Amino acid sequence: MTDTILRDRSGNPVTEDAIAALAGEIRGALIRPGDAAYDSARRIWNTLIDRHPGAILKCRGTADVVAAVNFARSHDILVSVRGGGHNVGGRALCDDGLVIDLSAMCGVHVDVATETVRVQGGATLGDVDRETNLHGFAVPFGVISKTGVAGLTLGGGVGWLVRKYGPSCDNVLEMEVVTADGAVRTANAERHADLYWALRGGGGNFGIVTSFLYRAYPLSTVLGGLLVFPREDAGTVLRGYRDFMEAAPEDLTVYAGLVCTPDGAPVTVVVPCWSGADMEEGERAIAPLRRLATPLMEAVQQMPFPAMQSILDGAFPGGTRNYWKSAFVKGLPDAAIDVVVEQGKGMTSPLSSLLVEYYGGAGSRRDSAENAFAQRHTDYNIGFMPQWTDPAEDAAQIAWAKGAWEAMQPFATDHFLLNYLAEDEEEAVRTAFGSNLPRLREIKRKYDPANFFSINQNIRPAA
Ligand SMILES: Cc1cc2nc3c(=O)[nH]c(=O)nc-3n(C[C@H](O)[C@H](O)[C@H](O)COP(=O)(O)OP(=O)(O)OC[C@H]3O[C@@H](n4cnc5c(N)ncnc54)[C@H](O)[C@@H]3O)c2cc1C
Repeated sequence: MTDTILRDRSGNPVTEDAIAALAGEIRGALIRPGDAAYDSARRIWNTLIDRHPGAILKCRGTADVVAAVNFARSHDILVSVRGGGHNVGGRALCDDGLVIDLSAMCGVHVDVATETVRVQGGATLGDVDRETNLHGFAVPFGVISKTGVAGLTLGGGVGWLVRKYGPSCDNVLEMEVVTADGAVRTANAERHADLYWALRGGGGNFGIVTSFLYRAYPLSTVLGGLLVFPREDAGTVLRGYRDFMEAAPEDLTVYAGLVCTPDGAPVTVVVPCWSGADMEEGERAIAPLRRLATPLMEAVQQMPFPAMQSILDGAFPGGTRNYWKSAFVKGLPDAAIDVVVEQGKGMTSPLSSLLVEYYGGAGSRRDSAENAFAQRHTDYNIGFMPQWTDPAEDAAQIAWAKGAWEAMQPFATDHFLLNYLAEDEEEAVRTAFGSNLPRLREIKRKYDPANFFSINQNIRPAA
């Protein structure tokens, strides 16, 4: 049992009459503390986050979202917005307030003629892949199929196609948005162009996106998978990986990292994804990666793109405790690789990973002010990602991530990937927006002057 109830921002209970009026207006479910569905509805991917909302509205459509926004605004209730529930900092949830949950809004419609895909705001990458692959298309997203398209896209979005087609936000043509005043707006290059600019990289600050229109690319099959090397060869493999990436074609995105096998053995892993049309060319392109050291296992093969975009799902299963720190490192010098190798020795949980990701390509050729996504010229992102199950380990695991990140600071730039930020990184949030922050604050003032949408990577409205 819980004594949580829905309260306004001053802590006053919201009346039952008001809640009943909302319940009568919506098509989706209003889940409250004490309801059988409450605990599962407030659970997100990262179980380190344990919040108790006053109510959760599982929206069935845009009209439910509008009803929720108007209800929360008129009763001065704190809101959070849930898409795929994958934000590691738990920004889908709030305490005592209202969670506007879009996870039931996961429709996807592929328009073959225009090579576009309309996606509702609660869909996951897997939802989109399933429909697009049917028609031989793909949209650039991330690497784990259960991640929400909304949070990922609004924060930029990097994944297996980032080098070829740029971040996800560069591939959004239009969005339907419910803004803080309850209005339903269409944001594209012609209509509400400032909102369109801000939403593409500005996070969940400007409204609730009920649908995205993405550009889709003809792509069914990729050449990808896992190359597994001994952990003792980590330094050699990572140096070889860095040298390889300097000349790698943009059809090839490759991540590398230190992980453990399912039976707990520490290894070094290299994960390539070739998205070019010619698979023989892909084999030739990938060949040097197979020789970075003597592999323990080679599992690179042609596969449907949805299989590639779920190949790491098992390593990030959800229901575990997680805390992330990340740092961009320019050029990845040998000394930085030494830090990666050394810090890898301190990973005590076999579920943890230390990943090195390179995004340079199509996105980096565009200007940082083209849309709100500012982290275009940043080279290697190093992610320190402890993952564990025992709450007694919380302090030690978080301390490892922070310590490893500190050790990387001599090589780190002052850039941050918005999507990877934990909940306690306020300063990094501001830095992540880079030179776009002043314009974002102006647009925030125009569309959300009272900071109604505050449980996110928050941008304060300009004064
Ligand atoms: C296992 C794992 C793998 C990941 N892999 C990648 C990756 O490959 N590439 C990458 O770029 N990122 C990746 N991420 C980070 C991820 O993109 C962000 O955490 C993102 O916020 C998740 O989106 P979501 O919809 O699942 O989040 P949620 O937790 O549901 O929401 C997070 C925030 O997004 C906003 N939001 C969500 N839905 C909407 C909406 N419809 N309208 C407006 N705002 C909304 C809100 O501000 C909310 O606070 C990964 C995260 C995890 C846990």
